[in-house]
Amino acid sequence: MEVLTDERKAGGRRITLRLLEPERTLPPLAPASLVRLAGSETLLELHRLNDMTPWDVTFETSDDRDLQTEPDDRLGLQSWWTPDALELVTDMGRRWREVPFDDHTMIDYCPLCYRDLREP
Ligand SMILES: [Zn+2]
Repeated sequence: MEVLTDERKAGGRRITLRLLEPERTLPPLAPASLVRLAGSETLLELHRLNDMTPWDVTFETSDDRDLQTEPDDRLGLQSWWTPDALELVTDMGRRWREVPFDDHTMIDYCPLCYRDLREP
């Protein structure tokens, strides 16, 4: 994956990446982390998918850190979506029901954003 453009302007940053193996890039593409494949080091968080062609993807992000890449770095996208979280939002057959909270068998945070369920 190559960084084609990286533009910062008031209100955000827009970065376009060229996919070297587009067939291996599966949706949802955002949010994701741009990582250095050696060591899986996160270089930049990519918050929103803005545009996509067969080869190029453009993201918008509020992450304004300097992109620390070397010419021979191999870069990759690492989706924030876990298989469990993706299933939660794409499984249209799931039946939701309200039940009293039970400390022993339930989790008290949102499995998508990890926010405490008691927060407004
Ligand atoms: Zn949430």
